Amino acid sequence: MRKLGVCTTRSPAVLSRKFGLFAATWMAVTAGCAMAHADDRGMSTAHSEAVALLRAFESARAIDDEALRSADDNMRDWITYGRTYDEKRYTPLNQINDGNADRLGLVWAHELGTSRGVEATPLVVDGVIYSTLPWSVVIAVDARTGKRLWTYDPQVPKSYGRFLCCDVVNRGAAIYKGKIYAGTIDGRMLAIDAATGELAWQTQTTDPSRPYSITGAPRIAKGRVLIGNGGAEYGVRGYVSAYDAETGRLDWRFYVVPGDPFPPFASKAMEEAAPTWIAEDDNWWVVGGGGTAWDAIVYDPDVDLVYIGTGNPSPWPRHHRAFGDNLYINSIVAVDPNNGELVWHYQQNPGDHWDFTSVQPITLADLTIDGVDRKVLLHAPKNGFVYVLDRVTGEFLSAEAFAKVTWAEGIDESGRPIESKSAVYGRGELVPVWPGPTGAHNWHPQSFNPQTGLLYIPAQEVGTAYSVVDEFNFNPATFNLGVNLDIPYGPPDQSTGRLSAWDPVNQTEVWQVPYYTPANGGTLTTGGNLVFQGTGDGRFVAYAADDGEKLWETWVPSGIVAGPVTYTMDGVQYVTVNAGWGGSFPLTFGAAAAKANVRSEGWMLTFAVGGDAKMPPPAEPRQFLNPPALSEDEMAMVDTGAALYGHCFACHGKDAVSAITPDLRYNSGIVHDLDLLKEVVLNGMLEADLGMPNFKGTLSEDDVAAIRAYVLNEAHENYEAEELNYRANMAKYRERLAESSEAQ
Ligand code: CA
Repeated sequence: MRKLGVCTTRSPAVLSRKFGLFAATWMAVTAGCAMAHADDRGMSTAHSEAVALLRAFESARAIDDEALRSADDNMRDWITYGRTYDEKRYTPLNQINDGNADRLGLVWAHELGTSRGVEATPLVVDGVIYSTLPWSVVIAVDARTGKRLWTYDPQVPKSYGRFLCCDVVNRGAAIYKGKIYAGTIDGRMLAIDAATGELAWQTQTTDPSRPYSITGAPRIAKGRVLIGNGGAEYGVRGYVSAYDAETGRLDWRFYVVPGDPFPPFASKAMEEAAPTWIAEDDNWWVVGGGGTAWDAIVYDPDVDLVYIGTGNPSPWPRHHRAFGDNLYINSIVAVDPNNGELVWHYQQNPGDHWDFTSVQPITLADLTIDGVDRKVLLHAPKNGFVYVLDRVTGEFLSAEAFAKVTWAEGIDESGRPIESKSAVYGRGELVPVWPGPTGAHNWHPQSFNPQTGLLYIPAQEVGTAYSVVDEFNFNPATFNLGVNLDIPYGPPDQSTGRLSAWDPVNQTEVWQVPYYTPANGGTLTTGGNLVFQGTGDGRFVAYAADDGEKLWETWVPSGIVAGPVTYTMDGVQYVTVNAGWGGSFPLTFGAAAAKANVRSEGWMLTFAVGGDAKMPPPAEPRQFLNPPALSEDEMAMVDTGAALYGHCFACHGKDAVSAITPDLRYNSGIVHDLDLLKEVVLNGMLEADLGMPNFKGTLSEDDVAAIRAYVLNEAHENYEAEELNYRANMAKYRERLAESSEAQ
């Protein structure tokens, strides 16, 4: 206390002279995390850390429009989702390079305290890291020490998790004039004081009575904070909202789809879109229509346009929505940042039939194409093509497949896809299609290196078989897909991932690295001829950007899906990445991950040349505990249970195999005990704490017994294979444990 007293009485006066009233106020109010640890590390260290933090929060307040426009010149920080407005995720920094990357090592590991997917790209300002976590929690971490500075938990009701198709994730925050902006999965926009972690304002951006969600990172454009939403699988109508960053006042809203296709219309764009939606005997627009913009929203200050990637329509089969193009689903739209008016659009999948969203990351570059200097937009959406557009006019320049594509024979000269008739599924037999709804590329950030001219795409190969359901009724409480799915199609090991280094001028792949699982991490590329990427099977790797040679890798305690960032502190270059496997594919299709013991415990990991910290210990592999034998009556329920398991699938995984939420086959404590299972499923015993929904009214007691029989039967059928797997994973676990910090 004595030392703390010195800080709070002496430092503010000094700091006030040096940094102004704000610093003194901050010190007086919070006394600071660094000060609280003064006893441990001595007064002068604590004091200099506090001074560094105060300077960092002043730096956060200095991030304005000009700072965002010139972010490429700012080597110290990473101040917007894709580092710069053009979202290249490229830094000119070359202190870490192809000559010394083999000496990279861990500097610190910060435990995030979560076991759901961590998709966030952190922001870094003057030695302070701001990140979002699952359940829309926002944190600040001291990059010098790896210690948590503050945590803001928006207290999203855990029961809201059932409205998230693809895990309770968040991909990142925005920073502007001292505030951190982040969306919540229940549709709120938060503005948080960067220094104190206190809420400045919040606003509900969606209709809380509908299953909207926000998982994407907000972006800043001309004093406004821009945010979209998700929920097309549940049937909602997508839009992007622009709020005054200072006050939270709604400034404009761009609707992606018209809703009611009859006058009056929300805008001229909606009036033009309406005729593409009118169906003879279906009124699916009443439920919303989808088109949700849940990821890419990129502001281009050179052209003064905002580019938005839009989502899939709802329901999925096109016959519900007329046979029109359904503007502006599955498109890149360019809107005026001043008023949200549509300027141009380019639709990648007119009248989409396969959940091929176009929300995937957008990268802006200046390239010479056929001898003409162009301002282009680079885009590799779910449907498996790399698109190059002129971003000033929206003109289609080229598109080539970067993955296995069976839904189209190509893209014609006008930019319209030439669909394969055999991929247009109907009722009856399931029709396999590549890519499927997980996409050949999903939200995982891509990067573009102007030195190599290559786009680094976290690609994947996951096929899916589709058919139209026989009877479809809109149900506002759950999915409204209108399809039967077999996903992933074929044996689990046929679904793989790949780092694809793609030349967008010549539209060819230059090199690639194959991966064991789909859903690998986002990429970062640097002036040191490097590409960094984490993998779903729990590694963090550096490659040579020009030829793909692997220069360095380390195992990490969890699978990685997020994109890494780089920055400097005190003149030294660092790389930070969030580990924590999760999201759409891992949540639902965990077989490959379960086999490799890929886990989802969250860690923020920071690396530098010469880093010598030990990796945190890996998670212990799971083992089947003897599942109880099934009686004849129970065996008779297995098929019914398999069909009813459809209610569980979206979180607990295909074939009852899960790598994120509990694998029910392993869940001896609850699943083995039918009475307890009924408490969980029909009385919501785990709803408040874990978000396990209450299915009262949807499922009966007999249904629960049938689901249990199915899950236990799966446990018995896979028992021997799982035991072998367990032993192999234990051997790897012991090896890593010996190398980890726990071994010290
Ligand atoms: Ca979708």
